[in-house]
Amino acid sequence: MLLRMSNLFLRTLREDPADAEVPSHRLLVRGGFVRRAAPGVYSWLPLGKMVLDNIAAVVRDEMNRIGGQEVLLPALLPREYYDASGRWTEYGDSLFRLVDRKGADYALGPTHEELFTLLVKGEYSSYKDFPAILYQVQEKFRDEARPRAGVLRVREFHMKDSYSFDIDDEGLQRSYDLHRGAYIRIFDRLGLKYVIVSAMSGAMGGSASEEFLAETPTGEDTFVRSTGSAYAANVEAVRTPVPPALPLDGLPAAQVHHTPDTPTIATLVDHFNAAGLGRTFTAADTLKNVLVKTRAPGEAEWEVMGIGVPGDREVDFKRLEAALAPNEVELLDDADFAAHPFLVKGYVGPGALLQNKLRYLVDPRVVEGTRWVTGADKADHHVLDLVAGRDFTPDGTIEAAEVREGDPSPDGEGTLYTARGIEIGHIFQLGRKYADVFGLDALGPDGKPKRVTMGSYGVGVSRLVAAIVEQSHDDKGIVWPREVAPADVHVIGTGKGEQIEVALRIAGELEARGLRVLVDDRKGVSPGVKFTDAELLGIPTGLIVGKGLAQGVVELRDRASGERSEIPLDSAVDHVA
Ligand code: ATP
Ligand code: MG
Ligand code: MG
Ligand code: MG
Repeated sequence: MLLRMSNLFLRTLREDPADAEVPSHRLLVRGGFVRRAAPGVYSWLPLGKMVLDNIAAVVRDEMNRIGGQEVLLPALLPREYYDASGRWTEYGDSLFRLVDRKGADYALGPTHEELFTLLVKGEYSSYKDFPAILYQVQEKFRDEARPRAGVLRVREFHMKDSYSFDIDDEGLQRSYDLHRGAYIRIFDRLGLKYVIVSAMSGAMGGSASEEFLAETPTGEDTFVRSTGSAYAANVEAVRTPVPPALPLDGLPAAQVHHTPDTPTIATLVDHFNAAGLGRTFTAADTLKNVLVKTRAPGEAEWEVMGIGVPGDREVDFKRLEAALAPNEVELLDDADFAAHPFLVKGYVGPGALLQNKLRYLVDPRVVEGTRWVTGADKADHHVLDLVAGRDFTPDGTIEAAEVREGDPSPDGEGTLYTARGIEIGHIFQLGRKYADVFGLDALGPDGKPKRVTMGSYGVGVSRLVAAIVEQSHDDKGIVWPREVAPADVHVIGTGKGEQIEVALRIAGELEARGLRVLVDDRKGVSPGVKFTDAELLGIPTGLIVGKGLAQGVVELRDRASGERSEIPLDSAVDHVA
């Protein structure tokens, strides 16, 4: 169906929105692609929705090509799933939480590892069922601390998330490589200039997690690249050395209370009371800033874990019990972190990060939320030695990069330089973390259960709309790559009568040839305004039916190059189609 500007639900704006800092924000709002509804929440208008759908179509195409099967899971998720994985607590303030009429807690899904794991567990049981790749294109919710830059960082956004399920490590590597290939094809088709960076420290060998960053000076992520090799990494992944062993021996003995088996609420309460912390605890109490020494079954090494929650949320005994099981635990104290001059392994929340006296070992991937550090996920854990004030800001975010321009590349080839980018995709080998939580097994050929191993992979579909504009615009407006543009051709009729009729006729013929056409058939709008709008909207090819009509010619305009040429009216359709 012809898109006619005379009745299209579109009003362009001449002025930039007051809060716009980056080009994509300015141009998407001015071009009537999106409208702000609330902080970090946007509505998609017809042209914006078309771009979004075009991007999603490319993503679906490439996901199907690697054998992905599309599903659609709910965004409204009961708390129990996130309790089981620990993320009800770990996710911190970024998780949107709500309560139903019966008082039950729910979350709006920020990402869906839990439910996908359960879904596969419900349907599949034999090694013959695997491998499997499931994906969805869905709205995600994250209560971002600082929504910014239009649709680049919002609180409700579209993500393609996929999950791979394999029975062994080689399978996981294959699924990961398939996704990596699919992402390369997706971003190539979208015409983006991007770099694939390691999102993990070099010591752990690069490929367990990689990010795709669209290169632009307005990007929030800083990455380093080597002048001498293909090495590229997010600066979060190339901070300082991996830490020494934890000096647990130095702990004051009086603060250590050992729970020999899996702790229960009752034993936890007893131990807290035995610690003589100046108050008496009951099972209904909540705690802040708990320190525990914990060790997974069969592990020799203890870890100290700080359990704190960003913001003012507290941990209750029930959650503590769920999170600690089946580990062996020693409770240290529930109080003042600053009093403990030892290392804490695991992120303990912004409040605790303020305590300058501690050196924290923090997983770079979890700076926005808390995360349990257990023996089970140690393998994919990279710890960093951070110092307050130097490595992170008072609110707990990490800002300053440790690496500097000119530092030697970790692979010894060349030196590093920094650049900025927008995270548009992220691929990640999860391993057995979620399969362990939910007991996802496949019966092997020998009849014995085998734990499934997983990967998770995200593409920021709505963020891509903005990332593309960041890379593809000029001072007059957007320059859409053809694959995502809302139309192939923008036919503009100037004047009042004949030109508009001819424009509509040509538009109809182009459409009959399979092109997507936007036609400016507005009456009483000056040619200047129409041309300005066309440049703002950024359709790749413009075809102007104007004054030249009397001489039997129309004008062709190429949005990207700015080239203009006159062609005979009679051959216009053949020429463009
Ligand atoms: P960021 O570092 O930008 O906060 P993330 O690492 O938290 O992103 P992931 O959990 O890896 O994001 O999610 C997969 C993809 O979803 C990201 O690569 C990004 O493209 C997109 N995305 C994440 N958060 C947002 C957001 N707030 N608004 C829009 N897109 C987002
Ligand atoms: Mg984030
Ligand atoms: Mg990130
Ligand atoms: Mg990410």
